[in-house]
Amino acid sequence: MADCLFCKIAAGEIPSDAVSEDAEVKVFKDIHPKAPVHLLVIPKMHIESIAHLGNDHNDIIAKLIYAAKDAASRAGMKGYKLVFNVGREGGQVIDHLHLHILGGWARDEQKSLNA
Ligand code: AMP
Ligand code: ZN
Repeated sequence: MADCLFCKIAAGEIPSDAVSEDAEVKVFKDIHPKAPVHLLVIPKMHIESIAHLGNDHNDIIAKLIYAAKDAASRAGMKGYKLVFNVGREGGQVIDHLHLHILGGWARDEQKSLNA
Protein backbone atom coordinates (compact mmCIF):
# COMPACT_ATOMS: atom_id res chain seq x y z
CA MET A 1 0.00 0.00 0.00
CA ALA A 2 1.26 3.43 -0.97
CA ASP A 3 1.55 5.03 2.43
CA CYS A 4 2.40 2.00 4.54
CA LEU A 5 5.69 2.15 6.48
CA PHE A 6 6.19 -1.62 6.51
CA CYS A 7 5.40 -1.93 2.77
CA LYS A 8 8.21 0.60 2.24
CA ILE A 9 10.55 -1.33 4.54
CA ALA A 10 9.61 -4.55 2.69
CA ALA A 11 10.48 -2.88 -0.63
CA GLY A 12 13.73 -1.43 0.74
CA GLU A 13 12.47 2.14 0.15
CA ILE A 14 12.95 2.92 3.85
CA PRO A 15 16.07 1.50 5.51
CA SER A 16 15.82 -1.15 8.20
CA ASP A 17 18.25 -3.28 10.16
CA ALA A 18 17.41 -6.45 8.25
CA VAL A 19 18.25 -9.85 9.67
CA SER A 20 16.96 -11.98 6.80
CA GLU A 21 14.80 -11.69 3.74
CA ASP A 22 13.38 -13.73 0.90
CA ALA A 23 10.80 -13.06 -1.82
CA GLU A 24 7.86 -13.11 0.61
CA VAL A 25 9.07 -12.37 4.13
CA LYS A 26 11.47 -9.92 5.80
CA VAL A 27 12.89 -10.01 9.34
CA PHE A 28 14.37 -6.83 10.83
CA LYS A 29 15.24 -5.31 14.20
CA ASP A 30 12.55 -3.31 15.98
CA ILE A 31 13.62 0.34 16.17
CA HIS A 32 12.45 0.67 19.81
CA PRO A 33 13.30 -2.74 21.30
CA LYS A 34 11.15 -3.88 24.22
CA ALA A 35 13.40 -6.87 24.98
CA PRO A 36 17.17 -7.56 24.68
CA VAL A 37 16.33 -9.15 21.32
CA HIS A 38 13.30 -7.67 19.53
CA LEU A 39 12.75 -8.58 15.88
CA LEU A 40 9.78 -8.08 13.57
CA VAL A 41 8.71 -10.54 10.88
CA ILE A 42 6.58 -9.11 8.08
CA PRO A 43 5.01 -10.45 4.91
CA LYS A 44 6.07 -8.39 1.89
CA MET A 45 2.44 -8.33 0.73
CA HIS A 46 0.21 -5.84 2.53
CA ILE A 47 -2.14 -7.53 5.00
CA GLU A 48 -3.50 -5.19 7.65
CA SER A 49 -3.69 -7.53 10.63
CA ILE A 50 -4.59 -11.02 11.79
CA ALA A 51 -8.21 -9.80 11.78
CA HIS A 52 -7.88 -9.16 8.03
CA LEU A 53 -6.56 -12.61 7.06
CA GLY A 54 -8.22 -14.18 4.05
CA ASN A 55 -8.71 -17.87 3.31
CA ASP A 56 -5.74 -17.75 0.92
CA HIS A 57 -3.26 -16.58 3.58
CA ASN A 58 -2.43 -19.97 5.11
CA ASP A 59 0.93 -20.18 3.35
CA ILE A 60 2.16 -16.71 4.27
CA ILE A 61 1.25 -17.16 7.94
CA ALA A 62 3.17 -20.42 8.02
CA LYS A 63 6.14 -18.66 6.40
CA LEU A 64 6.10 -15.91 9.04
CA ILE A 65 6.25 -18.48 11.83
CA TYR A 66 9.04 -20.49 10.20
CA ALA A 67 10.99 -17.27 9.56
CA ALA A 68 10.56 -16.38 13.25
CA LYS A 69 11.79 -19.82 14.30
CA ASP A 70 14.88 -19.52 12.09
CA ALA A 71 15.65 -15.93 13.17
CA ALA A 72 15.31 -16.84 16.86
CA SER A 73 17.57 -19.82 16.38
CA ARG A 74 20.19 -17.73 14.57
CA ALA A 75 20.00 -15.16 17.42
CA GLY A 76 20.88 -18.01 19.80
CA MET A 77 17.59 -17.95 21.68
CA LYS A 78 16.31 -21.17 23.17
CA GLY A 79 13.13 -19.49 24.43
CA TYR A 80 11.25 -16.43 23.27
CA LYS A 81 7.81 -14.91 22.81
CA LEU A 82 5.98 -14.55 19.49
CA VAL A 83 3.31 -11.83 19.57
CA PHE A 84 0.77 -10.50 17.09
CA ASN A 85 -0.89 -7.30 18.29
CA VAL A 86 -4.30 -7.06 16.61
CA GLY A 87 -6.10 -3.73 16.20
CA ARG A 88 -5.74 -0.60 18.31
CA GLU A 89 -7.34 -2.29 21.31
CA GLY A 90 -4.73 -5.03 20.96
CA GLY A 91 -1.86 -2.55 20.88
CA GLN A 92 -1.33 -2.56 17.10
CA VAL A 93 0.06 0.78 15.92
CA ILE A 94 1.28 -0.13 12.41
CA ASP A 95 -1.44 -1.51 10.16
CA HIS A 96 0.73 -3.98 8.28
CA LEU A 97 0.78 -7.48 9.75
CA HIS A 98 3.90 -8.15 11.83
CA LEU A 99 5.02 -10.84 14.22
CA HIS A 100 7.09 -9.67 17.19
CA ILE A 101 9.95 -11.94 18.34
CA LEU A 102 10.90 -11.01 21.91
CA GLY A 103 13.67 -12.67 23.89
CA GLY A 104 17.24 -12.63 25.06
CA TRP A 105 16.43 -12.16 28.76
CA ALA A 106 17.99 -15.44 29.88
CA ARG A 107 21.18 -14.53 28.07
CA ASP A 108 21.35 -11.23 30.00
CA GLU A 109 20.73 -13.08 33.27
CA GLN A 110 23.53 -15.49 32.49
CA LYS A 111 25.84 -12.59 31.73
CA SER A 112 25.11 -10.90 35.05
CA LEU A 113 25.59 -14.21 36.95
CA ASN A 114 29.01 -14.59 35.38
CA ALA A 115 30.01 -10.97 35.89
P1 AMP B 1 2.72 -2.69 16.97
O1 AMP B 1 2.48 -1.90 18.21
O2 AMP B 1 2.41 -4.16 17.15
O3 AMP B 1 2.03 -2.10 15.76
O4 AMP B 1 4.27 -2.64 16.73
C1 AMP B 1 4.90 -1.78 15.84
C2 AMP B 1 6.38 -1.91 16.12
O5 AMP B 1 7.08 -1.34 15.04
C3 AMP B 1 6.83 -1.18 17.39
O6 AMP B 1 7.45 -2.12 18.27
C4 AMP B 1 7.81 -0.13 16.87
O7 AMP B 1 8.90 0.07 17.73
C5 AMP B 1 8.23 -0.72 15.54
N1 AMP B 1 8.68 0.23 14.53
C6 AMP B 1 8.10 1.40 14.18
N2 AMP B 1 8.77 2.00 13.17
C7 AMP B 1 9.81 1.17 12.88
C8 AMP B 1 10.89 1.22 11.93
N3 AMP B 1 11.04 2.24 11.06
N4 AMP B 1 11.79 0.21 11.92
C9 AMP B 1 11.67 -0.81 12.79
N5 AMP B 1 10.68 -0.93 13.70
C10 AMP B 1 9.76 0.05 13.74
ZN1 ZN C 1 1.82 -2.47 4.14
